[in-house]
Amino acid sequence: MLKGNTAIVTGGSRGIGAAIAKKLASLGADVALLDIGNEDQAALVCEYCRTEYGVKAAYYSCNVADFEQTKEVVKQVSSDFENVTVLVNNAGITRDGLLMMMNEKQFDDVISVNLKGAFNMIKHCSRMFMKNKCGRIVNISSVSGLNGNPGQANYSASKAGLVGLTKTVAKEFASKNITCNAIAPGFIATEMTAEISAENNPMAAAIPLGRAGTPEDIAGAAAFLVTAPYVTGVVLRVDGGLGM
Ligand code: NAP
Repeated sequence: MLKGNTAIVTGGSRGIGAAIAKKLASLGADVALLDIGNEDQAALVCEYCRTEYGVKAAYYSCNVADFEQTKEVVKQVSSDFENVTVLVNNAGITRDGLLMMMNEKQFDDVISVNLKGAFNMIKHCSRMFMKNKCGRIVNISSVSGLNGNPGQANYSASKAGLVGLTKTVAKEFASKNITCNAIAPGFIATEMTAEISAENNPMAAAIPLGRAGTPEDIAGAAAFLVTAPYVTGVVLRVDGGLGM
């Protein structure tokens, strides 16, 4: 289904990003993973994609918050791989704290990675997508960006910002066969949420489907959006019904 295409997945070394990379590889896409430093883990994901699905896979060390670094890495990926048409902006961090306690650095760091990181990647990939006459962008937002969440003013703002970015990019690039959509995951079991057990978390206890999500739940949604040429500008909640 995606054979002959290359997908860039940021934060692809673990958690949701690794599941997305594997899912896209299972559909035949070559994959380029961008991560800030988890080289060993990224190498394992690449190896899995190569051996299980016979695709090309490589890892690039990159801080998505850095405009120049992302520019260089996108250039490198486009010379190493053929026909890059997919970008999944998944890299994200939390620096939680109630607003009264949150310092400027906590706020700036989260906005820089989660929101500016996606801007950087879209900015540097857009010309390549136009040249390749196709682009499928998926931004990983969050239900926290849609509903707000106490202790996450920085994170919620970054994820709400991604929704505005998604819809604007969808409108600006629609005529170029470039789609841009967002996924708003609910409570997904990864290292990011490892300290919040499903049992003692009121949000997790309120999930109508009765369980935390898995990275594979999000990967399935990402694969759908990447292979749906007539869907653009949507925010797809994948939250077990939490947002109802
Ligand atoms: P995770 O397990 O903490 O993984 C985060 C990934 O992002 C890691 O691969 C990490 O790289 C990478 N990363 C962090 N900062 C980076 C930077 N500056 N540049 C490049 N890569 C960077 O997180 P996750 O739970 O899989 O979450 C993935 C995405 O889903 C995030 O955007 C998160 O906000 C969103 N999300 C998660 C949940 C949830 O419940 N888990 C819910 C809603 C939304 P290293 O491995 O190199 O550190």
